[in-house]
Amino acid sequence: MAAKPEDYARVYAAFTAPVSRYDCGRKCAPHNEGTPVCCSADHAVPIVDKSEYELLKSRTDLWHDYVPKDSAGRKIVADMHASCAAVECKGVQFCERDNRSMACRAFPFFPYFTRERKLVGLAYYWDFEDRCWILSNLQVVDRDFVREFVAAYEALFAVDEDEREGMVEHSASMRRVFSRRNLPIPLVGLDGGFLAVEPRTHVLRPARVDEFLRHGPYRDEPPAPAAG
Ligand code: SF4
Ligand code: SF4
Repeated sequence: MAAKPEDYARVYAAFTAPVSRYDCGRKCAPHNEGTPVCCSADHAVPIVDKSEYELLKSRTDLWHDYVPKDSAGRKIVADMHASCAAVECKGVQFCERDNRSMACRAFPFFPYFTRERKLVGLAYYWDFEDRCWILSNLQVVDRDFVREFVAAYEALFAVDEDEREGMVEHSASMRRVFSRRNLPIPLVGLDGGFLAVEPRTHVLRPARVDEFLRHGPYRDEPPAPAAG
């Protein structure tokens, strides 16, 4: 069973909340030659399901196939599941909120599953720790975003088991990476609170946001006030 274009249309309609009340693009763009990191294919190439791409192409000319420019780009395309496509939009000045991909809407998070395959929260794409401002300011993540994020993925998982499997595998990869680092995995819990996954034991416990590391250029900035 796989998600169809109409499933994505339904999910898009109910997943519109921004990740934060802050315009976070203004926070990371100064460190990325003026462009928000997640809206630049030099940093983040959206991977979409082919059904999702079909829906997007029927609604807009915002998106085109991503053409790799270097070995990192070619690896992204080579590693992709056969049911997916790597895409690129026309650029941040042409963004159409209603025609953002799931990758745009969910960034910088993915659904985190425990070893027991239980969905317990939102984990982040750790490769972006040094570039995405949100990852050093998890307190700004909005509860409406968390609620819509979880509902959107639950709806997708209900019609596409591969989607769930991909996230289960990505969660396991994150456990391996953070165990090697000997650091807890920071999670935004389903209720908007914070959790940590201990390295090696993978025990899940409540956490305070101020125990999570801050990264890159954001380490030296004062933390942003929490979401209201
Ligand atoms: S989600 Fe992260 S990378 Fe994207 S605009 Fe916000 S701070 Fe920048
Ligand atoms: S569609 Fe909008 S949010 Fe998505 S990558 Fe393009 S500019 Fe960024």
